[in-house]
Amino acid sequence: MQPITTSIFELFKIGPGPSSSHTIGPMKAGADLMTLTRALPVEVKSEADRLEIRLFGSLSATGAGHGTRKAIISGLLGHSPEHCPPEVLDNLDRSPSEQHELDFTGNFITFTASDIIMDAVEHDYPHSNTMIFRLLNKKGKSLLEREYYSIGGGFLRWLGYEEPQRGEPKYPYSSMGTLKEHLTRNDIRLHELILENEKAITGLTEDEIFSRLDTLIEVMEHAVEKGITTCGKLPGPIGLHRKAPTMYQHARNDHFQGSGFVKALNAYALAASEENAAGHCVVTAPTAGAAGVIPAILFVLKRHLGALTDEIRQGLLAASAIGFLVKHNASISGAEVGCQGEVGTASAMAAAMLAYARGYRFQITENSAEIALEHHLGLTCDPVGGFVQIPCIERNAMGAVKAYNAYLIATTVEAAYHMVDLDKVVRAMKETGRDMSHKYKETSEGGLALSMTEC
Ligand code: SF4
Repeated sequence: MQPITTSIFELFKIGPGPSSSHTIGPMKAGADLMTLTRALPVEVKSEADRLEIRLFGSLSATGAGHGTRKAIISGLLGHSPEHCPPEVLDNLDRSPSEQHELDFTGNFITFTASDIIMDAVEHDYPHSNTMIFRLLNKKGKSLLEREYYSIGGGFLRWLGYEEPQRGEPKYPYSSMGTLKEHLTRNDIRLHELILENEKAITGLTEDEIFSRLDTLIEVMEHAVEKGITTCGKLPGPIGLHRKAPTMYQHARNDHFQGSGFVKALNAYALAASEENAAGHCVVTAPTAGAAGVIPAILFVLKRHLGALTDEIRQGLLAASAIGFLVKHNASISGAEVGCQGEVGTASAMAAAMLAYARGYRFQITENSAEIALEHHLGLTCDPVGGFVQIPCIERNAMGAVKAYNAYLIATTVEAAYHMVDLDKVVRAMKETGRDMSHKYKETSEGGLALSMTEC
């Protein structure tokens, strides 16, 4: 099997919520299409009359609630996920009929949200989240066409995509088994291995990697801080109230002791997740839908357990290893394997981060991750109304609490008694996802999404 060559900064990306596959991937597609169009010969560009975009699979089923249209438009208007101000997206939402001028360097066409068509939910394209962009002339002839796939976690691919050249990892691995062999053979710690691989794959220096990790940590912390101090209702027709500030106040009343500590952990996860649901900036960890779990554990590590910056960085590197393994060997996309791939993976990564940052060595770190993922197996993705709110927000809180509990089990029970390794549970997750009906893969056609509609 090919070794893992994903960068830490492809897994953890900064961008607007509420769903990385429905916002970050589509925004990138919009920006990419503009780059392609601008590179067309002048005589072709001058023929351009309109841009038609068709969305398939879960993008079609839940794109409206997930803000996919405004994400695409902001990409077409030249915004990138890392730097798109939340007000831009908020304003696009308020004026869906607004006409936008797309500038193809000297040639302009008008575009509105209605040029984005929600097409078939079930289809034969290679990935559920498919988008077809077509630039048409007056007679409807296609001048340019690209078939994009938003494959989860904000990753974007397209028909004919070729992986960019990148360095060979110093310690090539594609499973936890081979990763373990490197650690033993080279007497190296997990965070050191991930760091060495990152340097080799991306060409970044250690200082550059740490600086980028610190930015991720800052954005995660900011999402929690903003979420625990912001009251009111979340956008969308559900009218869901934010819960994080109240939960945090109760934690404070309990002086963060006993159940107050658990309330704080819940509050932090709810906070970042509510910020995501509001369409504000989060870190995909590993996806936007699951963007509350790791920040919650990070906040607990820093504010309650006194972890140092270096320990947090090392914990994030350990968490990356888990995310890479799941992404490489199964999926982190709710549209492919259900929520076990999103909140389940986030919980496993957070459990690994917690154990590793607390100074536990590799075996306990793996066991923590395995336990957290094992107890998310079979978790479906059924967002009510296509909004990343119910069950997503509370599910992040549950994922954070499960991560903490997985850490407690792994650090309390004799490691030698642990029977299931991470590779096995990742395989089980993939098979469970394959057997899952498409109704439970971010289409809002089953489960809670349907029950709520019938209520
Ligand atoms: S149910 Fe889980 S996978 Fe589905 S949108 Fe919500 S957080 Fe993402």
